[in-house]
Amino acid sequence: MAKAKISVNGYGTIGKRVADAVRAQDDMEVIGISKTKPNYEAAVAHQLGYNIYAPAENVEAFEKAGMPAAGSIEEMLEKSDLVVDCTPGGIGEKNKPMYEKVGIKAIWQGGESHTISGFSFNAESNYEQAVGRDLARVVSCNTTALCRAISTIDRELGVNKVRVSLARRAVDPNDIKKGPVNAIVLNPVKLPSHHGPDVKSVLPHINITTAATKVPTTLMHVHTVNMEVNKDCTAEDIRNIFGSQSRIRLIGQGITSTAEIIEFARDIGRPRHDMWELCIWPESITVTEKELYFFQAIHQESIVVPENVDAIRAMMELESDGAKSIEKTNKAIGLYNK
Ligand code: NAD
Repeated sequence: MAKAKISVNGYGTIGKRVADAVRAQDDMEVIGISKTKPNYEAAVAHQLGYNIYAPAENVEAFEKAGMPAAGSIEEMLEKSDLVVDCTPGGIGEKNKPMYEKVGIKAIWQGGESHTISGFSFNAESNYEQAVGRDLARVVSCNTTALCRAISTIDRELGVNKVRVSLARRAVDPNDIKKGPVNAIVLNPVKLPSHHGPDVKSVLPHINITTAATKVPTTLMHVHTVNMEVNKDCTAEDIRNIFGSQSRIRLIGQGITSTAEIIEFARDIGRPRHDMWELCIWPESITVTEKELYFFQAIHQESIVVPENVDAIRAMMELESDGAKSIEKTNKAIGLYNK
């Protein structure tokens, strides 16, 4: 079968990881990535052998910088079956008419609103609904984490209610422009935060409310989750349910912080210290009368990456079974957590 032709528009934190993950699959290929300027990230993309496409007016600048562009972004789209838009939140919406004009399938990220595609994706929650679709949005890192945990428990026990308190990393490690450096910021002051409604864009039947703060760290987010379920269960049951999921990693062995999770990711040789799995502390899992509590940590730069690959596979009709796609994606990128 011919490989699906994929372009990645926006080669930043998410885009560079999505490009590498797509490249690792045997049923899809990267036609090109787009960069607006010939900076250090473009130079690395060039070294990695990606075809770089640029806004038509900037193509010459890439030539001068010694990393010739293969053409304009429009030309990249014309050669592709599907574009993964990884531009900053809000830009993706402006790109939509360009995708419509070329007549190409498109995936956006969590920085765009649900209405951009009318369908929000999480592989464990609604893979089958994505099969053959033209447009989809892979939900944000926090929402991906919540959907993974909630849909896993919902399938086994039924979820009645979820309440979550989120401590969000302030910025990504490479971001020198934003803060806070010394504050805990209510994000936002008005409750609930947008995360609960965003989970409902994937799991509409879940009763969920969220509150978020932004804290001065760049590594990961941490959630304190409280979930009410419909069936009696023990903490051991919950550990076994989470432990059976390939994209949930139970972490222990003395790890009590996000810093140690990242060190662990470095030690096991993960690219860019990526932790694609949702990390749950099994020791934190506590059950009192159908109510469970636990802590989870999310590597914001990478958790959505395998989701993008699965969304491509579903939309391109390369695989109709979500579990098979998840397994294939995991294997190709090296996600083995057992
Ligand atoms: P980023 O700023 O790291 O990368 C965006 C890239 O797009 C940059 O290289 C930028 O130069 C480029 N770009 C800007 N305008 C462009 C245009 N018009 N055409 C082509 N390229 C353009 O952003 P990011 O963190 O990768 O976020 C991308 C999307 O992923 C957003 O929707 C964001 O909300 C979402 N997301 C981010 C994270 C995270 O923690 N970083 C996690 C999950 C989802």
